[in-house]
Amino acid sequence: MLPGGGIPFFEGDTVKITDSIRNLRGVGEKIEKNLNKLGIFTVEDLLEYYPRAYQTYDEPVDVSEITPGKRLAVRGYLHRSLARIPGGRVDKTAGVLAEGNSRLQLIWYRMPYLKKQIISGKTYIFYGSVKNKNGQWTMEQAEIFEPEAYEKIRSSIQPIYSLTEGVHQKMIGKLVRQVLDEGQLFEDYLPEELRMEFHLAEYNYALHHIHYPKDRDSLAAARRRLGFDEFFLFALAIRRMKASRERSENIHPADSGAWAEQFMGCLDYGLTGAQQRAWKEIFKDFSGRHVMNRLLQGDVGSGKTVIAQLALLTAVEAGYQGCLMAPTEVLARQHYESFQRDFEKFYKASGIRIRCGLLTGSMKVREKREVYEALENHEIDILIGTHAVIQEKVHFHNLGMVITDEQHRFGVNQREWLFGKGNLPHVLVMSATPIPRTLAIILYGDLDISVIDELPARRKPIKNCVVDTGYRPAAYRFIEKQAAEGHQVYIICPMVEESEFMDLENVLDYTEKIRKILPPSIKVDYLHGKMTGAQKDEIMERFHRKEIQVLVSTTVIEVGINVPNATVMMVENAERFGLAQLHQLRGRVGRGDAQSYCIFVQSGKSDSAKERLEILVKSNDGFYIASEDLKLRGPGDMFGLRQSGLMDFHIADLYQDSDLLQVAGDCAKKYENEIPENLERRMERYMRLAGSEVIL
Ligand code: ADP
Ligand code: MG
Repeated sequence: MLPGGGIPFFEGDTVKITDSIRNLRGVGEKIEKNLNKLGIFTVEDLLEYYPRAYQTYDEPVDVSEITPGKRLAVRGYLHRSLARIPGGRVDKTAGVLAEGNSRLQLIWYRMPYLKKQIISGKTYIFYGSVKNKNGQWTMEQAEIFEPEAYEKIRSSIQPIYSLTEGVHQKMIGKLVRQVLDEGQLFEDYLPEELRMEFHLAEYNYALHHIHYPKDRDSLAAARRRLGFDEFFLFALAIRRMKASRERSENIHPADSGAWAEQFMGCLDYGLTGAQQRAWKEIFKDFSGRHVMNRLLQGDVGSGKTVIAQLALLTAVEAGYQGCLMAPTEVLARQHYESFQRDFEKFYKASGIRIRCGLLTGSMKVREKREVYEALENHEIDILIGTHAVIQEKVHFHNLGMVITDEQHRFGVNQREWLFGKGNLPHVLVMSATPIPRTLAIILYGDLDISVIDELPARRKPIKNCVVDTGYRPAAYRFIEKQAAEGHQVYIICPMVEESEFMDLENVLDYTEKIRKILPPSIKVDYLHGKMTGAQKDEIMERFHRKEIQVLVSTTVIEVGINVPNATVMMVENAERFGLAQLHQLRGRVGRGDAQSYCIFVQSGKSDSAKERLEILVKSNDGFYIASEDLKLRGPGDMFGLRQSGLMDFHIADLYQDSDLLQVAGDCAKKYENEIPENLERRMERYMRLAGSEVIL
């Protein structure tokens, strides 16, 4: 039986989906304003404001079984009654649960009345997250339950919403309830036969159970239906965009392509077969009748950058300007440097000067202004920068080619923007996101696709291992040896500063620690996201120049950094990362001719964590890794809705729901020419909302 299948449709008695939230009980001017900040204006917006995650109440543990860093229910009683703690700015009430040698400190702020309510010697369940505070395990602001009451909520699943100032959980929860109690507000826009065929829950049912799941099954059904909707609307939008964007004339045709040929001659390697194919396809577009809209997909290290260089060079040859956008400052700077180097070689061989410019958010206003001017006067041929700045008042003289690198987040809205820039330039989108071709066709249906499915031949496969922290001394000796041989090393830590939880390594302390362990001849430095753009640039530049041998970093180096001389990557607390992310990280090594190594250090001895990490050792296929990861983590993770955060899907996940994407793609194809009226209304809403949120 289909969840919610037989429910008839009727309009709510007092509430309509198009009503302003102001019409709801309890919403005055102030609350309305606050909800508006979350993008909630109408009843429909409210219903589409899905929970960010869910809270479940697990089996209570005893004090001796506590694992810090997680939300837990702890069973215990106070030997002595709670005490008010004097001093300090806020009123504190505290107590201690003890069992054998284990202790848990309990602290509440501004809740003096608890002292009377909580009876010593009586067992309660204390629910909250446990952290290490001044060397003691501590739970702050614990929710308190009597054991019977806790048993009752054990089976419930409570929504957790993202909040903003002046909006709290209960407020949203109550308003949603108020609306849901109205009954069936929507007429399902999906034809019933389609729902039957693909086992999709009815829409009102799905809305109800995404906010207030009856149980895990109903949540799974709701998630599947709403995830389908998301893919379906996306796929329809893409098809519609493709149809409406009449293939424009190519007003920036290529010249002979001789410069690109000559540039290839200056490289100290030959292109792989896959690179040659991709370049051929791009050049063909470039010389063809219509403007190019192409996706270039290739796993980390497959050599996409050189293809971008060829394309940009060919634009310059034909008299146009080109532009390359990178997602981070560090990456933009790196591209700029390597383009300068490569074009210098090209200049020596050909006598042709290519003028590159750099534009990033952290540059001074004066520097930026110089770049703007040079661009307008066509004194810059190729502009390299971050997305953010390209949106500003940048005017090209004659832009013929736009390339985006590492475009992980590429929603409908970004595309519209991209294609609107300049006077119909060619567009090339480069991505290392591992998606099988069948799915890429749905997601990027408005683009042609080239794939680089081959790594440069001289590459040796990376050697991987998963170890526990006891292996560190051996790892440091190994790092020392590699550094002595002239190679470089990355060490990744999850945190920047000391964390509240004792078991997470942080960049600053770690750097200090291994500076003492490694001989002084090995220079150790660090990089993290809280540094300014200029600081990051300086570190990366010194790493490029080999003035730093060991770089301790957070995952800021994840995207696209290319230092082929780096041969070792050591990841601390590897169990903390998603496997797809670790796969991207490890792509920073194995980029040169020398043998590279990846050491995943697991803290703790969990077998399941080890099993997960072992997938990385077994496979080098990004898509396989990402999907296996989700399989292993299992349905428990359903409670953190969005997994990979790829593209702009809120509920659906590219890896977890790839079958659903396939179905949605097929349906979009089938229905695009006979869209029912209420689906049309949904589409308009979707396009409007997608267009209002610019992320580039
Ligand atoms: P990605 O596809 O991850 O962006 P890059 O373009 O940064 O990869 O290339 C990774 C490294 O491989 C660079 O150092 C680049 O110079 C080198 N490279 C690219 N193509 C080849 C090739 N055909 N043979 C050998 N090395 C190559
Ligand atoms: Mg790259």
